[in-house]
Amino acid sequence: MSVAKPKADTLDAFFEACIGVVGPRHFLQDADAVKPYGRDWSGAYFRTPLAVALPSSTAEVSDLVRLCAGHGIPVVPAGGRTGLCGGSVPMRERAALVMSLERMTAIREMDRVGRTVTVEAGCILETLQDAVAEAGLAFPLMFGAKGSCMIGGALSTNAGGSNVLRYGNARDLCLGIEAVMPDGTVVNGLSALRKDNTGYDLRNLLIGAEGTLGIITAATLKTLPQPLVRTTAFLSVSDLDAALTVLHRVQDHTGGAVEAFEFMPQPVIDAICTYNPAIRSPLEGPAEIGILLEVASSRPMDAQLNEEGARALEVDVLTLLADLVEKELILDATIARNDQQRQDLWTMREMVLEGITHAGVAEIFDISLSLKHLSSFVATAKEQAARFGFRSLVIGHLGDGNLHYAVMGAEGQDPADLPMDAMRAAIMDEVARLNGSFSAEHGIGQSKLDQMLRYKDAGQLAVMRRIKSALDPQNLMNPGKLIPLASTEVGTG
Ligand code: FAD
Repeated sequence: MSVAKPKADTLDAFFEACIGVVGPRHFLQDADAVKPYGRDWSGAYFRTPLAVALPSSTAEVSDLVRLCAGHGIPVVPAGGRTGLCGGSVPMRERAALVMSLERMTAIREMDRVGRTVTVEAGCILETLQDAVAEAGLAFPLMFGAKGSCMIGGALSTNAGGSNVLRYGNARDLCLGIEAVMPDGTVVNGLSALRKDNTGYDLRNLLIGAEGTLGIITAATLKTLPQPLVRTTAFLSVSDLDAALTVLHRVQDHTGGAVEAFEFMPQPVIDAICTYNPAIRSPLEGPAEIGILLEVASSRPMDAQLNEEGARALEVDVLTLLADLVEKELILDATIARNDQQRQDLWTMREMVLEGITHAGVAEIFDISLSLKHLSSFVATAKEQAARFGFRSLVIGHLGDGNLHYAVMGAEGQDPADLPMDAMRAAIMDEVARLNGSFSAEHGIGQSKLDQMLRYKDAGQLAVMRRIKSALDPQNLMNPGKLIPLASTEVGTG
């Protein structure tokens, strides 16, 4: 499924027609203007787009996609470009139109009765959360890029983050999708219905498709009761098994109210403190296995102050934690006493990526495993990494089994001189052996195509290819991403 590079004579006509749709101000061709759209947060890829279109409506997206189909021009959808796999970066230099949804930011409807919100794809996640909070509700998708990533990007990558344990990932929070398919057809699936058994689920096909099947233009999302009270703590435990025992004890005790259970060992905290000296380690001693725990409740009873001036949920959780300290399951703990202290803990958590990147991490594997395998996997992976001369740093959304397993060269050792491919294969083979996933939440983009070929079930991959060619026979919609080519053919776009 290859596509010829666009010819110069047809390009002029194409550009003119695109300008006719969005106007000259919103069709970028100048080298400096298009440059930022040629990379994502990972910085691993840079390719100059042919041009960048900034549509303001679904009708404009549809017109532009029709033009791309008519002229055989690949189109790459882009949101906040906080992706970590090169998904929004074209595969080739000056070969694809980047379609940025950044002007489609409207919150079309806040339905307080149905408890849903309908929002355009270019709305920044945090902007949406603030608007939903003003309506007294919550949209609980939570991760470090929330101030820059957009709803369309979050859905296209089926983003996860810190609260998946309790609320699920982007897919679980979405009821309906509006999208433009590769031939320009607008699919209006903006249903707010919780029950709708009327055939194939196009919403779930488009979520997680990384823009390879169509461009999401709007979505209807679930909103939830706003937590009235949160208890946030940083814990030190002796090992991962102890951490999971603590998780289950807190879940059982609070009726499943754990929102976040994030793994942050001391070396990662040290990397963050080095990167940003304003950040302080939360515990006085080292936390070999450090856990950021957050429990939340929307029950007014839990938010009420008792005689000591503490809230019921906090008392409840603190009593349990004290008991676990006594039983030596928890070695040390600090509790956030106010919003500022809670914010400080989360600022530290959200700086992980910057901190470990600054520390010289060469690659971060985004894997998920059944909780029962976490402990043995971490031990084996550490050995495997060391065998090839790498050091490991492990972080992750421990409560849902998602580890971000980072590797770097030994002190003073350039990782480029080490056998990265062999080490990656050894670690990923172990993930596969344990029936885990080599891509938990960041997606495939262009950086994990080889792993997709090696580890994705061949039958599933074959069906994915058939779906792709049925919906996008010209292979123009974000070509080369997500689905590896069977042969040595190089992706287009
Ligand atoms: P982009 O990067 O612009 O695009 C991502 C993919 O979606 C591309 O393939 C693109 O073509 C496609 N796309 C974008 N918009 C559309 C659309 N409207 N229609 C169709 N396709 C589209 N991710 C997590 O899951 N969990 C985390 O905890 C997490 N933490 C992060 C922390 C930091 C500091 C950073 C920088 C990133 C993190 N990410 C995380 C990754 C990233 O933020 C998410 O993948 C995010 O969902 C991408 O959204 P975006 O708008 O930036 O999409």
